[in-house]
Amino acid sequence: MSADWVPSLWLDTFVEMLNEDNELDYDDNWTLNFNYSQTDTVTKEDRRRGMKIYSHCAFGDFECESCLKTWSSAKVVVLFRYRLRSDADRGTVTMRPFGQACRRCQNDQYYLPGFTQDKVESALGKLFAKIRKNCYGEEDDEEQDSGSGDFEKKTKPHEKSLCEACKMGICCQD
Ligand SMILES: [Zn+2]
Ligand SMILES: [Zn+2]
Repeated sequence: MSADWVPSLWLDTFVEMLNEDNELDYDDNWTLNFNYSQTDTVTKEDRRRGMKIYSHCAFGDFECESCLKTWSSAKVVVLFRYRLRSDADRGTVTMRPFGQACRRCQNDQYYLPGFTQDKVESALGKLFAKIRKNCYGEEDDEEQDSGSGDFEKKTKPHEKSLCEACKMGICCQD
């Protein structure tokens, strides 16, 4: 169980997968940032600038800061906005994890998810595949692991009223 939101885990894994696994082998400098209020809205201006969206559904763990209850969810949304600026040889990714509220406390507080290393790797692996396809025009190679890993643990039915992504209408599709 890793119920703490740890941005550095995402940053370190991002850099590692780029440098060691050469996930984006195109000589552009890709960076990861966090934006805790971004949405999946793509304006005309965004589109002109090549902005793209990838919404990932992951398995994550939560802990309520008030009563310390912990729970797991197979429907944790991680929203990426990314774009390649080929004129500047760089690409940017901004990421937002969506929170869930505590069922016991019902205090309208959304707690951010914690992820294990392998969930982070699988999320970023899918993101890099999207980038290769949508920014560099690579063929979409068959997904190696079609999200299978996210169902090994049983979780309770998704409680929409406690889910920040559901509230914004961008939760994982059933
Ligand atoms: Zn609580
Ligand atoms: Zn939801």
